[in-house]
Amino acid sequence: MLKIVIVPGAAPSTPTARDELAERLSLAPRSLPEDLRRSNRGLILRALHHGGPASRADLAKLIGVTAATASSVIKDLDDLGLVEELGRTSGSVGKPATMIGIAPDGRQIVAISLSKPDEFVGALVDLSGTIVERRTYPRENRTGTDALELVRSIRDELVGAADRPILGVGIASPGIVDPEGTVIRASRLGWQGLPLAHELGLGEADVHVANDANASALAELTFGTSNATNFVLVRVDQGVGLGLVLKGELLTGAASAAGEIGHVVVQPDGDECTCGKRGCLETKISGPLLQQAQKGADDDVVRLAGAHLGAALASILSALDVADVVLSGPSEVATDTFRDAVRDAVADRTLPELSERLVVRPSSVDDDIVLGAAALVLDRELGIR
Ligand SMILES: [Zn+2]
Repeated sequence: MLKIVIVPGAAPSTPTARDELAERLSLAPRSLPEDLRRSNRGLILRALHHGGPASRADLAKLIGVTAATASSVIKDLDDLGLVEELGRTSGSVGKPATMIGIAPDGRQIVAISLSKPDEFVGALVDLSGTIVERRTYPRENRTGTDALELVRSIRDELVGAADRPILGVGIASPGIVDPEGTVIRASRLGWQGLPLAHELGLGEADVHVANDANASALAELTFGTSNATNFVLVRVDQGVGLGLVLKGELLTGAASAAGEIGHVVVQPDGDECTCGKRGCLETKISGPLLQQAQKGADDDVVRLAGAHLGAALASILSALDVADVVLSGPSEVATDTFRDAVRDAVADRTLPELSERLVVRPSSVDDDIVLGAAALVLDRELGIR
């Protein structure tokens, strides 16, 4: 049914925004013929997610297919209830065109974050990334099977609370997670080789699991206001982890451990670390350490933590030619003192070609990794990122 609504002009509205969106869409690989239809669906959803409502003709042009192909893919998406017709444009040149947009209520995502030390967070998220419902669950130091059972009951509760079909279940976990959703190691939760996605699999909805820094990076890529497609996200919480995004793709590495820099030694004669080595980056910087320093107004500790992080980042940024550093974690990572210390330490160690472009900024997505868990499902199920 056609709803009568006022739709702002065909998106994206400015030539620059249009170029940016076209570039973003061109990043997606689409070579295998059998994947073409799926890939076209993903591209159209991605165009609508980042660019807003658009006409069939605009979408065809944006993703580089014929009008007939675009119409057929849009019909598929409409049949699935993932997009909707929003009304007709008026006032522009030519015939009024029917605008298509993502149907936010077409599905709900069950998103669970295991990142915080003392509580798990669960949410129902719609297709536009709006949190419909958010619940917290005290962890009470559960580890091993007890922690797994808590996650299972959160999943059941949220699946029961959903009032739309479920697109999938996304989980952001600390530690190293492989592409199949097995937690290789998450010390805090006492998990080792735990096939979490398999354990929590539901009949009709797939379960996707990612490391929390990677989930944060996906949230920034999918919901961030910066439109950045090349950045390093630094997640500071109990430890330090990175999410590396290059050309719109998350790098996970050969053994799914890309970005695990917390136990890189920055001071060989430093304090002993939980891993047994001395002077790991995590002994110099963590959420609790920054919070404590902030409480005691101890700027020196904050500056030193930022300097250690910057020193560890300098070679990574140089190697990848990335000059955009996104800080995610407790509010303390967003202070000017900390950010300046990180920026100065990177600038001191890199060539002007990098340091003159260097930006160190807080994440534009709320520090709630449930949105990262939701972004993971949008990516894996619909190709939106
Ligand atoms: Zn260590």
